[in-house]
Amino acid sequence: MIDLLLTHGDVFTMAGDGVGYIENGAVAVEGNRIVAVGPSSELEAKYQAKRTVDASMKAILPGLIDGHLHTVIAILRGLGQDAPTWHEGVDPFFEQLTPAAVLAGAQLSAIEAIRAGTTTLGDYGPGMPIALPFYEKLGVRARVCTLISEVPPVESLLAEGELYPFEPALGESRLEENLELVGQWNGAANGRITVMIGPQGADYCSVELFAKIKAAAEKHGLKIHMHIGQGDREILQMKNRYGVRPVAFLESIDYLDEQLIAVHMVKCTDDEVEKIAASGASMAFCPSSLIICDGIVPPADVFVRAGGKVCLGTDETSSNNGTNLFSEMKLASLALNMKNQDPTEMPTWKVLRMATIEGAQAIGLDHEIGSLEQGKKADLILVDLRKPSMMPVLRDPVRNIVPNLVLSARGDEVVLSIIDGQVIYEDGRITTIAEDDLLASIQQVSEEVSARASKEVRRRKTFQHRLTLEDRY
Ligand SMILES: [Zn+2]
Repeated sequence: MIDLLLTHGDVFTMAGDGVGYIENGAVAVEGNRIVAVGPSSELEAKYQAKRTVDASMKAILPGLIDGHLHTVIAILRGLGQDAPTWHEGVDPFFEQLTPAAVLAGAQLSAIEAIRAGTTTLGDYGPGMPIALPFYEKLGVRARVCTLISEVPPVESLLAEGELYPFEPALGESRLEENLELVGQWNGAANGRITVMIGPQGADYCSVELFAKIKAAAEKHGLKIHMHIGQGDREILQMKNRYGVRPVAFLESIDYLDEQLIAVHMVKCTDDEVEKIAASGASMAFCPSSLIICDGIVPPADVFVRAGGKVCLGTDETSSNNGTNLFSEMKLASLALNMKNQDPTEMPTWKVLRMATIEGAQAIGLDHEIGSLEQGKKADLILVDLRKPSMMPVLRDPVRNIVPNLVLSARGDEVVLSIIDGQVIYEDGRITTIAEDDLLASIQQVSEEVSARASKEVRRRKTFQHRLTLEDRY
């Protein structure tokens, strides 16, 4: 007898080159693995299950993969906007974060993500030693790294183009922290938690530190997860320090290969983006965050055309302003179509692949997740197609479900979420935590951070227009 049988659903396996659609399909789960996917009639005849779920008028999909986010500053949501720069908006609050605030950020991001169908979090620390025990308890899949930098927090004090000082001891300690994660957490929670390695950017580490990071990545078989071409400041640092742009520098130190997950690339030229894609590296594409922070659409169109694999990411709740891959999917499609002035540039089926199987390929977990196939881990979601936002459901002569999943769904259509074979979310309730209590403590911790930042916020002119004394916010 198997554990779970989902029947009579519109199944999108995401296997093969498209969406792998099965009408009136079923998925069989035993333990933490998918044991069969196929027509309902076939699987119902073959399997007895401890629990059977009738998924009529529901889409069954692989759980969504958020390939790049920083939960550490999630409780600063709504503070980086309408300020001269995102940094100026969040900095006074950022300075007041405590371990409790970091935990609150991880809790808030993960709760929001699960409620909207995300099953894997590509969390990019610091703060992972605080977040991971919570992720283990919650039951979410996590693929994490520590932000490695050897630049002390003096960037804002330097003149434009003045070289950041490097503090090798700081870089060593961050690398050590990342390697401790590898030792303690890589493969933990029955393989649900895995670890990458995370240099912050080309401008944040010395050549010597990059060599150590690469050696560690090779030794432990880790993906290198790294921001590339994320701002003018980075380009200027690299030109002033080495006389080359970041991509040429990374090529010179042998960083362009399939181990690399290149994040953002908004300041890369098309040639540079193509070079990264051709190297076998993958891309993390975070449209909301980069459009809000910089008004730029990341070059995922160029990367895809060059044959690269792309995952979606929400980046930061304080810059995008949510941890919701349904809204990210919609913007991914709209932004690339708008950029290219072509409504067919980024079709919805392709975006759904970025959030599932191609996302899994991009972060190096496609042997385990990303599609509904026999032998893979059971990470899957059910989306209620009877919700007004998903109606009507048409299957012949043209199916409208995929465009509606990408462009109409808001996330609250998700009614069931299974991660590693365990029901984590069902009928509006996360099963593994006391959600109401956690949300109350997140609110309290956030108010405390805000209170501590108050004096500095009032001192800085940045916020004159947003102080609550005025009526516009
Ligand atoms: Zn980032």
